[in-house]
Amino acid sequence: MASGRVGLLTLGGWRRVALRKGRLDSEKRQFVEQIEVAARAERHLQLAWKGERELSISAIVDESEHVRSFYLTDRGGAALPTFESGQYLTCHFPTAEGEKPLVRCYSLSDRPREECYRLTVKRQDPPAEAPELPPGRASHQLHQMEVGDKLCVAAPRGAFFLDPRRDNPVVLVAGGIGVTPLVSMLASLDQAGDRREVYFVYGVRNSREHPFREELEELTARNPRGKLFIAYSQPLDSDREQVDYHLAGRITVDFLQQIVPPGRYDYYLCGPGGMMRSLVEGLVDQGVPEDGIRYEAFGPASLKRRSPSEAGAPSTVEPRPKVRFQVAEQEVAWDDQYESLLELIEQAGVAIDSGCRAGSCGMCATRVLEGDYVTTKSPSFSPEEGHCLACISVPTSPLVLEL
Ligand SMILES: Cc1cc2nc3c(=O)[nH]c(=O)nc-3n(C[C@H](O)[C@H](O)[C@H](O)COP(=O)(O)OP(=O)(O)OC[C@H]3O[C@@H](n4cnc5c(N)ncnc54)[C@H](O)[C@@H]3O)c2cc1C
Repeated sequence: MASGRVGLLTLGGWRRVALRKGRLDSEKRQFVEQIEVAARAERHLQLAWKGERELSISAIVDESEHVRSFYLTDRGGAALPTFESGQYLTCHFPTAEGEKPLVRCYSLSDRPREECYRLTVKRQDPPAEAPELPPGRASHQLHQMEVGDKLCVAAPRGAFFLDPRRDNPVVLVAGGIGVTPLVSMLASLDQAGDRREVYFVYGVRNSREHPFREELEELTARNPRGKLFIAYSQPLDSDREQVDYHLAGRITVDFLQQIVPPGRYDYYLCGPGGMMRSLVEGLVDQGVPEDGIRYEAFGPASLKRRSPSEAGAPSTVEPRPKVRFQVAEQEVAWDDQYESLLELIEQAGVAIDSGCRAGSCGMCATRVLEGDYVTTKSPSFSPEEGHCLACISVPTSPLVLEL
């Protein structure tokens, strides 16, 4: 009897039951995937470890004339926590007694691997027009380090990373040493077997200053829908157009429009301030939605910040509020030419520590004794109650700072 009933269900019924089960399975899978993606997207808010951790430099590789990669491993060989591609490590360098702390951020330049982290650092020499200035403190110190040396780092962090919730084709645009977080993103897509359309557009001076040349060629070639475009702003006589590079000059929005077919793309940009400003503004002008453009500046925030009212400030914002430094007994007027309070403070010659200049390391946390301010980007470091992060804050009323 039972088997007869089963027999009756076999053709129509069982197919419907199977279909419903299949649909439920697929819905369940989708649900689980959504939870995983949401969890990954939230992960950047949690830190893999608290405070600093000493890692060993296990290998050093020269990538180009002034650029060197450092492979960091756990001292006891333990697996290293994962991170989102595009995030960075905050490095704390030893300083002499009484000297200011030296803290700098360096992007993780490879995909997550349990066995090592890779940082890739450009040695910052004094500007050509002022060779008497000291060289970059941290990058020079790093370039003098050797295999076996230790580096103190805080856990991976940062809000500039390949968004796991989106699967649009991507355009990764890099200038100079700003290539590091984007190489990591490209390597992660490759590792995941993600074969979406990827345009990697990289601008450097010439072949002498061209890190990751082979790595980028290999990673883009492995994806049938991956494309690599190189722009040399000052090609050498020996550099061959269409072989070593595709554009003589700087990356422009016009060039991006020539190489990227019409469509909906997510743009990730990292490079010098001027390049980012012109590209981000140009892309927005061309109708690319703002939520499809992500960028990171290495150093002072270089893009035009939102006005205080856009940033959520009260509507009664004073145009040029006074900022008073209590300890230094000095007062200056805010001016919109400054990107942040940190710039104003430095310009005034008042002593202040600074590190990432991006609201991430907390070095410039300053006690606010009176007045209001807003932050121009969301910090990944929470300062103590009553303190502002000067590198990402602008005043919205007269301020008194404990400096
Ligand atoms: C999120 C983030 C990620 C980053 N990722 C990377 C990365 O992957 N790779 C990388 O190489 N960098 C990266 N950076 C930049 C890095 O953190 C440092 O800013 C960079 O290495 C310079 O630091 P420094 O201590 O060597 O130079 P500094 O000591 O800060 O000096 C910078 C420059 O100023 C010049 N200088 C010195 N004194 C003066 C003066 N009185 N007046 C004018 N100029 C002066 C120096 O010669 C040097 O050229 C990143 C930054 C951020 C915020």
